[in-house]
Amino acid sequence: MPRLLGIRAAGPALAIAAALVVAVVASPAPAAELLLYSSRHYPKEPAFEAFTKKTGIALKIFHASDAELFERLKAEGDRTAADLLITVDAGNLWNAARAGYLAPVDSPELAANIPAHLRDPQGRWVALAVRARTIMYNTTRVKPEDLSTYAALGDPKWKGRLCLRSSTHIYNQSLLATMIKRYGEPRTEEIVRGWVANHPTLINGDAKILEAIAAGQCDVGVTNTYYLGRALAKDPSLPVRPFWPDQTGPGVHVNISGAGVIAQSKHRAEAIKFLAFLSSPEAQAVWAEASFEYPANPQVPPQPLLVQWGPFKMDDINVAAAGEFQAAATKLADRAGYR
Ligand code: FE
Repeated sequence: MPRLLGIRAAGPALAIAAALVVAVVASPAPAAELLLYSSRHYPKEPAFEAFTKKTGIALKIFHASDAELFERLKAEGDRTAADLLITVDAGNLWNAARAGYLAPVDSPELAANIPAHLRDPQGRWVALAVRARTIMYNTTRVKPEDLSTYAALGDPKWKGRLCLRSSTHIYNQSLLATMIKRYGEPRTEEIVRGWVANHPTLINGDAKILEAIAAGQCDVGVTNTYYLGRALAKDPSLPVRPFWPDQTGPGVHVNISGAGVIAQSKHRAEAIKFLAFLSSPEAQAVWAEASFEYPANPQVPPQPLLVQWGPFKMDDINVAAAGEFQAAATKLADRAGYR
């Protein structure tokens, strides 16, 4: 009689299951797990681990490119299980917010910890790290006094000595978009035409541009600083340093890595807690140490290698400009012959 046997066998199992239920109910409510969609390309995120350690809230991270994450969010629609979107570049966050993927967050911690120009004016995303996109130069071939502004890279003295990333990469779209917001299209186009007239070597990747500058293949270029931080941590003898342009004008172009809470998140309170924690001095220090990015929270100093490069004035235009003028930047680059 297999059925009877089955029932008998279930007896002790049910008793054990009931005991387990009692044990679970008796302990504090199990913490939620947050699902993060991330386009950040870091093997480890110690600040995320610190959050789990502090709160007991587990994190599940789904890594993909921004394009793939957007496709996924679009396909999943209201059924998405994602709680947070973490990306690099304000242009990507701006696009996600415009597509309706992110819900506004009103958090006093975020407002206190992160400067207003690094947050969405409508509260749908916030910077967690700052990325300075600045001029890099070969220290054996260029003196800092030869440099001044992004626009001055169009000076004929840099003909054949300039390395740039392609205009189609979002980092440079954001750089041009911010310049359009700051100077208007005619002046920005004039600046870009100056660069193009110097026949820049176009290189597909910030790290490769730094290698080319170190090798003397070009003398100056424009990259994000964390690539140099990582390169110098491996090889301190690398003859490349950053120059902070436009210090008597608008300042260094900055972009962000940041995040927002997914509109359909079922763990909204925990997701906001996550963002608030990441903006805290405690988490910002851990983040900055690991990634070589600048802290988004101005109370936190950058990591020691970056301190050696000195302080700089950053452009305080709202980074949303990267999204607002992205399409205009692409068209402008085309017109100016910057590929
Ligand atoms: Fe990058």
